[in-house]
Amino acid sequence: MKKNIKCYMCDSDAVSSEHVPPKCLFPESKDVEGENYRKHLITVPSCEIHNSAKSKDDEFLMISLAGIIGNNSIGYLHKFTKVNRAIRRTANRLLDKAFTSRKHYYLKRDNGFLEVIWGTPDHERLISCFEHIAYGLHYYHLGKCFKGKVNVLLGYLHSEDEGNNTFVQYIKDRAAIDLKDIPEYGENRDIFYYQFSDPDDNGIYMVHMRFYGGIDIYASFLPEDKPKPFDLGIELMNAGIETVFVLDGKEYRVKKANKSEEKNESENL
Ligand SMILES: [Zn+2]
Repeated sequence: MKKNIKCYMCDSDAVSSEHVPPKCLFPESKDVEGENYRKHLITVPSCEIHNSAKSKDDEFLMISLAGIIGNNSIGYLHKFTKVNRAIRRTANRLLDKAFTSRKHYYLKRDNGFLEVIWGTPDHERLISCFEHIAYGLHYYHLGKCFKGKVNVLLGYLHSEDEGNNTFVQYIKDRAAIDLKDIPEYGENRDIFYYQFSDPDDNGIYMVHMRFYGGIDIYASFLPEDKPKPFDLGIELMNAGIETVFVLDGKEYRVKKANKSEEKNESENL
């Protein structure tokens, strides 16, 4: 690696490079009838610290995403080949790690079909994985390391808290409007593509990541030199007061469950 090239996450010198998203999310051609889903994968320079111990996270992410409802057929195929090999190899320990408890989370499809997945995904670890990917895409797409606050929303998970689900839906619908005319990047679109929104009035911008044709993740970037914007609706909602968000004439009635009950993913946005 050339001197003076900086890590995608910090100010240290880069010593190696890594894939964003992780390479293992992209099926090997032997598993998908010779199809090449590893065209021009994105890599970013990485320092010692930000490159080490990452392979475990990569495998965790692969198991958490591939094969769940919302995937296209390539995602399923990936699940039934490489992902299951990884699960067998480690005698299900990986599954235990990916899903921490048996609470009912479910994934909702457009046709209303529901499937309960193994349990509650390890939220914190998922958020951390996607944060790294967001930093990597920022470095790759905008040519610089991001300084500030990144917030990740897992748009594909539904919880028992309906108020939270409504809020996630509101964010997704709002993002869909913001991203309507924004180009999509990615050479293996069935596996992964992303979009970067323009900064809003507060200087906040967003990356939308789509995996396996139907799993949506959003990460917002609040640069360190910008003040945290005040949003009355969000403040009310966080205080536990029923709040109505309106978008294109559609109403989203959101009341947050008791804050202490559960870490709520909407707080992350
Ligand atoms: Zn680093």
